Amino acid sequence: MKLVIDESRCKGCNLCTLVCPYKIFQEGSKLNKKGIIVPSLDRPGRCTNCRLQKLYDRRLCGVCQLICPDQAIRWVEEKPCEPMDVVIEF
Ligand code: SF4
Ligand code: SF4
Repeated sequence: MKLVIDESRCKGCNLCTLVCPYKIFQEGSKLNKKGIIVPSLDRPGRCTNCRLQKLYDRRLCGVCQLICPDQAIRWVEEKPCEPMDVVIEF
């Protein structure tokens, strides 16, 4: 699974940067096309290894998603890698 911020919804309030126990959300530095500074993600893969999963009895702690007032945080399934034909020329 891949953690994503939906830029069409995010208002840049940065609540997610305050609550994530792993500091995966970081304050962004660049304005997007809508003039909003969307948080950046620092090694988002750490989220699915969250040690809080035992505490909450689920895979993700989900605090960021609960706190986001604009429902801008979600996880998307990543496509499995497809084998490719590779031609090696000598
Ligand atoms: S689910 Fe928890 S650990 Fe994962 S990004 Fe959100 S707040 Fe951070
Ligand atoms: S809490 Fe939601 S709306 Fe606020 S900055 Fe984070 S993703 Fe954007």
